[in-house]
Amino acid sequence: MNHRILIFLVLVLFFYNPSLYAMGTRPARRHILVRVLIVKSAKEINLHIRGPYRLVGFEDGEVLEEGRGLRSRTFFAKDLDSGGIRVLPGKRARVYVNKRQFRGEIDIIKDKEQRLIVVNNIDIEEYLYGVLYNEVSHRWPIEVLKAQAIAARTYALYQKLVSKNRYFDLAADIYSQVYGGRRSETWSIRRAVNLTRGQILTYNGKIFPSYYHATCGGHTSDAVTLWGIDIPPLRGRPCNFCTMSPYYRWKKELRIDEITDRLKQAGYDIQLVSIEALKRDKAGRILDVLLKGRPENIKLGGNKFRLIVGPNLIKSTNFKAQIKGRDIIFEGKGWGHGIGMCQWGAYAMARKGYKAEDILRYYYPGTEIVRIGNN
Ligand SMILES: [Zn+2]
Repeated sequence: MNHRILIFLVLVLFFYNPSLYAMGTRPARRHILVRVLIVKSAKEINLHIRGPYRLVGFEDGEVLEEGRGLRSRTFFAKDLDSGGIRVLPGKRARVYVNKRQFRGEIDIIKDKEQRLIVVNNIDIEEYLYGVLYNEVSHRWPIEVLKAQAIAARTYALYQKLVSKNRYFDLAADIYSQVYGGRRSETWSIRRAVNLTRGQILTYNGKIFPSYYHATCGGHTSDAVTLWGIDIPPLRGRPCNFCTMSPYYRWKKELRIDEITDRLKQAGYDIQLVSIEALKRDKAGRILDVLLKGRPENIKLGGNKFRLIVGPNLIKSTNFKAQIKGRDIIFEGKGWGHGIGMCQWGAYAMARKGYKAEDILRYYYPGTEIVRIGNN
């Protein structure tokens, strides 16, 4: 798509949704809304509202109920009709879903499996308040927090543009961005978001998925290896900054049984004898892993293997595995997929005096920061 058209779409289509804050809680500033999945596949949802609210039909917007406060009510999937409910909070109202507070509107919808999903419709800037806290330490220098805010805003907006889901753009888990709702906001995080308000990264005028991860372990990787996106800002590059990260090097001992159980659950039945890297990228991350054993060897993508065993147990695909008795000892470098900005590297850069722009230019080369909206 022509980049001018893309930016135009961002500016026009996704701005201002008049239903947000329909009860007049905010001045008429333009909003870019993101739809964040906060609960999935639930039998019941607890809702609690302090302050005025309206419940309207999700599809037709018809007012179902209004009041000055809603004392802990449980919605059961079996009782809800297929249309779903939208919660419109009034002025200064606080909305809690399963005891966690969220800003913006809440949709309670029944999915195809007759389970409930809950989606938070929220201004992208307010969404970022909740994301950043879970992505980086709020005690880190402001320049790294600003860099993170711009990268996370870009990523969220990109997801909004490409989302194919009828109900949401982003899921609140590690596969998109971790979103903690209102309780994960702090002063320094809000400041970093506010100081960069409306700023996103573009490459050749186009928005792109600005991936990031905790620690690269010495070299970031090409996005093309995992997601098939081959553009200069998402190609791997050396990083000498993250050596102070606690995850720069890691070691993990796991029982062979534990790994074979997980492989079995994923449909791979094998009595493991050894784990070997078949192919690594230039950063050292394993592209293909060979699981040797009986009845036969299994070849898996390195990333797939990591996700099956557990991304928090095997922190990256840059590892060596050695069998010792009943255990497998993994020794590796870095934490995360290794693509885009290395957060611990960014932290070290900020401590050395680099600005947010320098950090972003380093990890996403060739990009520029542009401002969207009438901020
Ligand atoms: Zn790094």
